[in-house]
Amino acid sequence: MKTFAPLFGAIALLASPATAKSDSPPSPERREPVVILVSIDGFRADYLDRGITPNLSTLAASGISAAMRPSFPSKTFPNHWALVTGKVPDRNGIVANGFEDPAHPGEKFTMASDEPYWWDEAEPIWVTAEKAGIHTATMFWPGSNVAWGGTLVKQPWKTVSGGIRPRDWQQFNGAVSPMQRVDAVLDWLRRPASNRPKFVTLYFDQVDTAGHRHGPDDAQTNAAITDVDGDIGKLVAGLRELGQPANLIVVADHGMAAVSSDRVIALDTVADPSLYKLGEAGPFAALTPTEGDDEKLAVALVRPHEHMQCWRKQDIPARLHYGRNPRIAPFFCLAEPGWQIAATSPDKASNGGSHGYDNAAPEMAALFVANGPAFAPRGKLGSFDNVDVAPLLRDLLHLPPATDGDGSDAPFRGALRSPTKR
Ligand code: AMP
Ligand code: ZN
Ligand code: ZN
Repeated sequence: MKTFAPLFGAIALLASPATAKSDSPPSPERREPVVILVSIDGFRADYLDRGITPNLSTLAASGISAAMRPSFPSKTFPNHWALVTGKVPDRNGIVANGFEDPAHPGEKFTMASDEPYWWDEAEPIWVTAEKAGIHTATMFWPGSNVAWGGTLVKQPWKTVSGGIRPRDWQQFNGAVSPMQRVDAVLDWLRRPASNRPKFVTLYFDQVDTAGHRHGPDDAQTNAAITDVDGDIGKLVAGLRELGQPANLIVVADHGMAAVSSDRVIALDTVADPSLYKLGEAGPFAALTPTEGDDEKLAVALVRPHEHMQCWRKQDIPARLHYGRNPRIAPFFCLAEPGWQIAATSPDKASNGGSHGYDNAAPEMAALFVANGPAFAPRGKLGSFDNVDVAPLLRDLLHLPPATDGDGSDAPFRGALRSPTKR
């Protein structure tokens, strides 16, 4: 119990800002709550039940938590964008971690792409907030380095004119340590009120990296889970020291499934490689038929396979909400969780973890924990979709509901205190 004491103090402060007694020294500034959206990449929902996360578990116990359904496909960029736009990847435009767009022939989207046109199919919450005069700051988040809505000017060289970014943001750099990321957020909150953000994002990648390398059940993944829990503890302690109340929303983009080189589907044994060009491959594969070979490719792919299903994009099951966007390739194959699709048979053994599978698979379920003055301690909620997080953020920031989103704040209504009490 002893180790928990400082955090309980922090929670009390997060939940109810201190009121000064009349005979006490001059009261410190009464700070308004800040909204902090934290992503722990690849933190599978059930990692929270391992008994190795004292800080997150305490936040969950005195706030709310859930096993959240990611959007399909359960990959990093599509889901981070779904979380902040409230739209599924088919409608938010970030349909995978890598893809092409018929409207931009010869160009490829990668995790380093920052040209606004890739991102402009859905508006992220920091843009909505900045337009409403709310100061936002992002300590990494996919898309937060983009001048959203700006125009790419190709002549005389690639520049962007216009567009909106968070007021404070940082170019993604994996070498910035988790502690430096926490400190950057605390430094922003140390500023005078006139220059202090009201909405902040924070991103950690060490759990996803360990999960890929070692698999979800390995001791080294548990070590990364405990490390990131310590980082959350430092954030909470730092907020307490500042006297800064906060509504903390801690999420993951997806979970993690154990994979093995014994469970690989070699595509060249299913369809003649001359019939298609392979895009992203792994838990799913995106294929574009060679000109004139559409029918031949359909005959090879659209039939029963062990451990894999393939469709023409327009026939992908409706519950995945995927296949209408022109950025999705004409043929799409999805592996059973734990299996991987590769161009050819792997030549060396490898074990570890992967994600990108059916978003209803339990291994893909993602962490959700929320705690702060806006939340009543309701404990574990039923599962909901990650497109419901953006409507929750809008409530917390007192922004009007979106008119064209894919989610709603309904899962949180029973846990949200009335706006005057937040
Ligand atoms: P994934 O394997 O799909 O979960 O991708 C995770 C990787 O995405 C992380 O290990 C990071 O290296 C990378 N990543 C995360 N955020 C960003 C970003 N904002 N910009 C570029 N790469 C990122
Ligand atoms: Zn991820
Ligand atoms: Zn990953």
